[in-house]
Amino acid sequence: MKNGGGYEAVIFDLDGTLFRGKEVIAGAPEALAALAEHTACRFLSNNGERTSTDLAQRLRNFGFDVHEDDVASSADLVLKYARETARSARILALSSPELASALAAQGHMMVEDDSATLVLIGVDRTLTRERMVQGLRALLNGAALIATNEDPTYPAADGLRPAAGAYVGFFRGMGFEPERFCGKPDEKAVRMALESWGVVRPSRCLFVGDNLRTDIAAAARVGADSVLVLSGVSARSDISAIQDKPTAILESVSGVTRSYLDELASRRKTESIALDRHVRQ
Ligand SMILES: [Mg+2]
Repeated sequence: MKNGGGYEAVIFDLDGTLFRGKEVIAGAPEALAALAEHTACRFLSNNGERTSTDLAQRLRNFGFDVHEDDVASSADLVLKYARETARSARILALSSPELASALAAQGHMMVEDDSATLVLIGVDRTLTRERMVQGLRALLNGAALIATNEDPTYPAADGLRPAAGAYVGFFRGMGFEPERFCGKPDEKAVRMALESWGVVRPSRCLFVGDNLRTDIAAAARVGADSVLVLSGVSARSDISAIQDKPTAILESVSGVTRSYLDELASRRKTESIALDRHVRQ
């Protein structure tokens, strides 16, 4: 069994961690290829528009040797949620057309009016007032509300753009709170992804990501270690304002090597010994 540093799996974020927009993070494909010899590498993205098939292809285009089974996105987690708990729902998808099509392909009944029993919020680039009205009326009729994730913005080539959290804000403003987010840092969503990879002990994973509020918080929710990389949205100076601190900080994912994992694991051991001593005193 591959378990570099004693970690059952290393869970990498994508955007801001392995690549930034159209640029790969220097040294990342080589670092991951070397790491994969010793450790199970998995990829968890809050992208609510694309599924693992698309994201794995994008990663391969950047030079990463990745199979789609090792990738999960918010879109994949929505599909899994719908498959497992909302089989017979009538779904109004205020999301990307790709995610709506994937739901339809999975056999769900998609509707465009207030007869929906499940309203899904994602990034809907063509959201109209009329579709929001249908969403509101469906919710007033008792429909359930879920969202791909709660990210406020996402980085695009020309700068930041509104992400699913912004669309959630419309509905919060009308008094509705999603009962489920299918992305980081939602604990159920994270556990669902880990379970799909056969991870037995989520607390023995290491999360690597650029976002304190999603990647590092996700690790904290399942009791796992985390490494914040400074190649994306969060800066070192943001850490003091955040409750869930990363276990360690690196400039770039290229520093995540086998020896670094061993170092982290031994630090974890030392800390738990220190904690143990403290408790005994
Ligand atoms: Mg990221």
